[in-house]
Amino acid sequence: KAAFVSMVSHEVTSHLGAIEGYLNMLLYQGVKDQRTKQVMERTVLRASTLRTLLIELMDLSALETGTFAVTRVPVELEAVVHDAVEVCAEAARAKNIGLTVDHSTAAGGCSVLADRGALLTVLRNLVENAIKYTPADGHVRVSTACQPLFATVRVVDDGIGMSDEERARVFEEFYRVRNPHTAQIPGTGLGLSLVKRLVEIHDGTIEVRSSPGNGSEFVVRLPRPTDC
Ligand code: ADP
Repeated sequence: KAAFVSMVSHEVTSHLGAIEGYLNMLLYQGVKDQRTKQVMERTVLRASTLRTLLIELMDLSALETGTFAVTRVPVELEAVVHDAVEVCAEAARAKNIGLTVDHSTAAGGCSVLADRGALLTVLRNLVENAIKYTPADGHVRVSTACQPLFATVRVVDDGIGMSDEERARVFEEFYRVRNPHTAQIPGTGLGLSLVKRLVEIHDGTIEVRSSPGNGSEFVVRLPRPTDC
């Protein structure tokens, strides 16, 4: 049954990806009628949210059943941060959000014991959220710090923030803050539950500090290889 569900999900995600691709191609070629253009853009957004939802559900179910493949090896943290920021750079540019990276480690780098793909998913989710929940012209800062046993990644934004009650629930599956600030922002409510599970299978921790109107700070701590 699990194999069947996984196969169907893969089929659906690949068809959705193709739909997104075709629509983006038409949009790129230019659509004169503004209403048609708007409807096509909304369709791309819906298809992309649905595809993300399926991928996150598949990952969460694999984590649940213990079939999520994780290979932990020494990975250069700065390089993965760089890739995560690169993936999100266009979204930041579109909102004129300053996206900066700061590594406090001296040259030589900082390695963590991680699965590169899973770590990229964690960091990409946090940076994507920081951009999504920060109004235009805001700032998102990603920084790393290296200690002998642990490395820390901070993703700080000066966006809409959250109340204490909201903050306490963000890692719950399907939880999304509902208020006028978030009404137009698409999402699945699964990203942060996936992030937390992935951090935990790395024997790491994740914390969040936030207050309404004053932005949010997510802090991930990951173990370093013992011989580094
Ligand atoms: P979503 O797909 O809705 O973004 P997540 O699981 O990633 O789902 O996040 C859960 C909820 O936590 C979001 O809907 C949003 O309300 C809140 N949230 C997450 N990151 C931030 C942030 N950086 N600033 C403010 N709110 C956030």
